[in-house]
Amino acid sequence: MSDEKSARKGFSTRAIHHGHDPYAGHGALNPPLYLSSTYAFPTVEDGAARFAGEQAGFVYSRVGNPTTQLLEQRIADLEGGEAAVVTASGQGATTSLLWTLLAPGDEVIADKTLYGCTFGYLNHGLAKFGVTITHLDLTEPRNLEAAIGPRTKLVFFESPANPNMRLVDIAAISAIARRHGAVTVVDNTYCTPYLQRPIELGADYVLHSATKYLGGHGDLLAGAIVGPRESLLQVRFYGLKDMTGAVLSSQDAFLVLRGMKTLALRMHRHSENANGIAGLLAGHPKVDVCHYPGLESFPQRELAQRQMKLPGGMLAFELKGGIDAGRRFMNALRLITRAVSLGDAESLAQHPASMTHSFYTPEERKEHLIGEGLVRISAGLEDLDDLLEDVAQALDAA
Ligand code: PLP
Repeated sequence: MSDEKSARKGFSTRAIHHGHDPYAGHGALNPPLYLSSTYAFPTVEDGAARFAGEQAGFVYSRVGNPTTQLLEQRIADLEGGEAAVVTASGQGATTSLLWTLLAPGDEVIADKTLYGCTFGYLNHGLAKFGVTITHLDLTEPRNLEAAIGPRTKLVFFESPANPNMRLVDIAAISAIARRHGAVTVVDNTYCTPYLQRPIELGADYVLHSATKYLGGHGDLLAGAIVGPRESLLQVRFYGLKDMTGAVLSSQDAFLVLRGMKTLALRMHRHSENANGIAGLLAGHPKVDVCHYPGLESFPQRELAQRQMKLPGGMLAFELKGGIDAGRRFMNALRLITRAVSLGDAESLAQHPASMTHSFYTPEERKEHLIGEGLVRISAGLEDLDDLLEDVAQALDAA
């Protein structure tokens, strides 16, 4: 479907059709999978013109490939951004973007709670190269207003945050950052553009681990960066091509394109299942607190309703018995799989203090609001009654 026609269509129609015309070429319903690392130049002058960016066309797949390009067009369209660059993993997206935007002497202000490897990259990677990392509680926008300064180049957060589900007001934070000349980067992995579109709320860049809901089937690693076209040219030609080389293979791009066709349908089912599980957990005598934006008891429910289309498929909870009870719960699960990652058809449970956030010191976990007994569930697409039965029997054992 042409970009012009697509602009008038709904989310699922665009997720299925945007950027591909089945009547072109051989009439194949699905976009072709281009397996080629390099591209032929008709003449040496054409080659030179393509290198100089004066002629359209592909050069080498570390810079671009027709299949990954279609995925980029689709993700940019669904996020409401000017352009996108896809990468070999979510981590590759974060590093390719931040290596491009930052220089020694700059400051990044990041929320207190982040995915563990993002925390590691900021504090053990970027910090080594003279970038200052300041963690703030960004759930309270006035904390940013008080701390932001002339060296602050970038404000970074997830909403909901992995793993404790704290929400950040994207519009409020982006407005403060913009007023002070800093850019806002939102990791939108938990929500996908179906639930939340940060650029429409004022953010400058969106990051994704497309390994998760966008791919949707737990069979690949992929990432995406969405943002302004000019800036993403820099990301593609310096951050991705020269610095990280974290290039997505066209085969995995093809699978993400396939996964995204059912994204909206899946997000409804993930949300329904998470909502059901959260309802059981929230009222259970063994549960201290359940963090889920769809619960009446969720402290940021008003923000969730304003910012997210649905409460989503992720939830976290703390058992009254602390870490030992958490371990007993995890080991008693029979249907929900003990595994990290999220957004798959299979429901997954993980214990951040033992797994995704295990390389924090216990003091760092405390400082960054990750409880020792916190258990995270990614609600899959199974039948809710079966999931509830499994959670209930695991709670009995906890
Ligand atoms: N961002 C979030 C919120 C994540 O949960 C993850 C992975 O779990 C990443 C980024 C990194 O993505 P990937 O595993 O695709 O490198």
